[in-house]
Amino acid sequence: MKQRPVTLRDLGFYVRARINSGISGALNRRRGGAKVRPVASLDEVLDGADTPLALSRLLVGRSNAERQAAVALYLDWRGIPFARHAFSSFEGAGENFGVEIGAGDRVLVLIAHHDAVPGSPGANDNAAAVGILLHLLGRLARTPPANLRVRFLFTAAEELGYLGARVYVQETSLAGIIGVLSLELCGIGDALVVWDVEQEDEFLHRVGAAAQGLGLRRDERYHVVGRIPVFGSDHRAFAAAGLPAYGLTMIPAAEAEALRRFVLSPGRSALMHLIRRPRPFDTYHTSGDTYATLEPAACDAVVAALHAIIAELG
Ligand SMILES: [Zn+2]
Repeated sequence: MKQRPVTLRDLGFYVRARINSGISGALNRRRGGAKVRPVASLDEVLDGADTPLALSRLLVGRSNAERQAAVALYLDWRGIPFARHAFSSFEGAGENFGVEIGAGDRVLVLIAHHDAVPGSPGANDNAAAVGILLHLLGRLARTPPANLRVRFLFTAAEELGYLGARVYVQETSLAGIIGVLSLELCGIGDALVVWDVEQEDEFLHRVGAAAQGLGLRRDERYHVVGRIPVFGSDHRAFAAAGLPAYGLTMIPAAEAEALRRFVLSPGRSALMHLIRRPRPFDTYHTSGDTYATLEPAACDAVVAALHAIIAELG
């Protein structure tokens, strides 16, 4: 672990993260959301089904230290080699895990953060995404792409202004990366959203072609959204380094318009704790973000989309 100089940008992230987690923690306490507990033992999950939903139970309802340890435990248990990237700064500490599968010079990075905000079981944010990637990497390991390296990155401390991803970008080689997708809120809904798109580049065209190949019609089951204020995720650390990097989220198609108004209006988003929020933001960062709200079909749709994107790029 290297000591890095503190920049003004780091300080900004620090202050914002403290305010956000302070608000979430206070609201969750007020809602009496103390019943944050696991939905299955680790042994039950390891011996259980290899579906995204079943694997998400490694994390749901656990503390951030336990969530992090559970990801490493699962990879060890499956005998999958992975890189450990531990970090510590005044902003916080944690460990990112990286698994790379495939061959060639070009790298696709798929990210799911393993931490959650205090007082939330963290099911849709972001255990579902971790379950999706753990399931996908198991399948991909059996039939690795011949002409593409897929790097699965499980990051720590996303809820602290995507700290884990920022440190990763500073300390790790980004050589060969052709695109980055950060999975957030992937466990509820029936339409795919790629967000934080400021200009449609070659990578995004390939992602769009993959969606089209699956029969997902643009603006119906596949949405491309511009830069979203207030919200953010790990991909922004890669975008800041000049790489094509976007968020990937599932939403209920019926809520698409309400969501568009909600997330694209900074005022509404900033006051999101006070107003009625469309799904899936009704449980976002709250004690209501439970395993019971996750939809197997949503997770399976993301797996199918990622398979198609990998095939399109490979
Ligand atoms: Zn998240």
